[in-house]
Amino acid sequence: MSLLLGCIADDFTGATDLAGTLVRAGMRTVQMIDVPAPGTVLDDVDAIVIALKSRTIPPAEAIEKSLAALEWLRANGCQQYFFKYCSTFDSTDEGNIGPVGEALLAALDSDFTIACPAFPRNNRTICKGYLFAGDVLLNESGMQDHPLTPMRDPNLVRVLDRQTQGAVGLVDYDTVRRGAIETRAAFDTLRADGKSFAIVDALDEDDLMKIGEACADMKLITGGSGIAIGLPENFRRGGLLEAGITADSLPKIDGYAAVLSGSCSRATNAQVALMAETCPSFQIDPLALAKGDDVASAAIDWATPKLADGPVLIYATAEPDAVRQIQAQLGVDEAGALVENAMATIARGLVDAGVWRLIVAGGETSGAVVGALNVPGLRIGPEIDPGVPWTASLGDPELLLALKSGNFGTPDFFTKALGMLP
Ligand code: ADP
Repeated sequence: MSLLLGCIADDFTGATDLAGTLVRAGMRTVQMIDVPAPGTVLDDVDAIVIALKSRTIPPAEAIEKSLAALEWLRANGCQQYFFKYCSTFDSTDEGNIGPVGEALLAALDSDFTIACPAFPRNNRTICKGYLFAGDVLLNESGMQDHPLTPMRDPNLVRVLDRQTQGAVGLVDYDTVRRGAIETRAAFDTLRADGKSFAIVDALDEDDLMKIGEACADMKLITGGSGIAIGLPENFRRGGLLEAGITADSLPKIDGYAAVLSGSCSRATNAQVALMAETCPSFQIDPLALAKGDDVASAAIDWATPKLADGPVLIYATAEPDAVRQIQAQLGVDEAGALVENAMATIARGLVDAGVWRLIVAGGETSGAVVGALNVPGLRIGPEIDPGVPWTASLGDPELLLALKSGNFGTPDFFTKALGMLP
């Protein structure tokens, strides 16, 4: 195994986003759910993204988890490391971007890195150190009211400075646009000046490519998934990454197909309604679950004889009014937990019945299903819709999984996804 890029992401969907970006840029990528067990061997992989849940936990815990992830990646001989956080720099004055970045730097015996959350494809740009979300500054974007990480200062040099012991500098777009050599020289100047981080401006993907090239020899890079687009080219240039490989190919896995939906987002409601027109469907009633009915067994018994004839749809998805009524009766958390547990049990039953092509709608629902199926990681395959790839689970049995968070995907997402499989 020759791993090139080892990434640590501070949340699950951010990890998927980064993994998809790397695959599109030509690196075969696996996303691991938490730190892999020692001795886990992965073949034919160029990049690994370890998904943590460390964005809003206390800084000391975030450091501990991130260092454990780094240790695993180092034991597997990565050439370069990447700490991925949100493109809106979600953090507080306590962390966790600064403290985790500094801990990783120290563990790698390095004294300098960049911090670049720019993601022009998603309208996140940085100009003179100020982060924009679309046309407005970060602190006017709605992020100022985020319940856990309110972002009230758009100047990332100041924001990161408050979170770090070391000093923070800026490489502005004037320098970036002059090219990779000038950008690298600016890094050297800041480093000689005692700075340990550089916020780097980026307005478009061309800037990200130049910054990527300037970071070719940097042990640790920190940023959003945007900055990752410039990194694979360094490995190709160095002869470490084959050009022209199909990075998104997945093993062929036969088996029955099913869609499990626990998302009540608007996009999912439309997708479920469309799918139910053409495929057998079973609705989960949270009130029946609350009464103690064995709805999961009923769903599995309903589905099993139908699987040989084509995909089935099992859903708890409901319109906002219905969801509100259920939540009023059961409580938001109780309703959520009941449905998630049922979905997890149903997923296990379906896999036992031979469903090895499974689409799951809902972020929390996906987490519950992946946990129930003991999936340690996912090899990232072709993109179905922006932000949602087909994946192949590692472990036994191998499954094809598409995990869709709520508002992603076109109305025909489910049939489109199943139609992509050979
Ligand atoms: P999304 O990605 O759309 O936010 P999630 O799976 O993350 O979807 O969250 C949806 C939550 O709603 C889950 O906890 C799920 O169990 C719960 N849920 C699903 N269906 C219902 C329903 N009919 N009534 C109440 N809660 C529901």
